[in-house]
Amino acid sequence: MTGKPFRVLPCITPENRHFWTGGADGELRFMRCGDCRYWIHPPAPICPECLSKEIEIEAASGRGVIHTYTINRKEWYPNLHPPYPIAIVSLDEQEDLRLTTNIVDCAVDEVEIGMPVEVVFEEYDEVYLPMFRPRRGS
Ligand SMILES: [Zn+2]
Repeated sequence: MTGKPFRVLPCITPENRHFWTGGADGELRFMRCGDCRYWIHPPAPICPECLSKEIEIEAASGRGVIHTYTINRKEWYPNLHPPYPIAIVSLDEQEDLRLTTNIVDCAVDEVEIGMPVEVVFEEYDEVYLPMFRPRRGS
């Protein structure tokens, strides 16, 4: 027992490896179009904006804001104790670059839409799950 909350872990594929393992280097990595520079998530073989196949991997800042959230109050999994916030975070790089995630290191009643947050990773073997906490400093 590690004390870590129970998480459903992703299946790592060649297409998503950059995203799920970037946390090993402290990086939140996404696909990005080499032509129009659009950030692409979830991973896709072509850019949804310009249909380019020139897809690159790039690290985002890991900073964003809470786009919306809900507070889960039901115990769905062992060792993942409610209440806890489930949020959609919009990354600073691009308004529609969004992740569904948990907000951590924050009291449930302090979570609010528009709150600036930053990524923090939870490590499970080779998988690094991106969670977000209130942004510290500037
Ligand atoms: Zn593009």
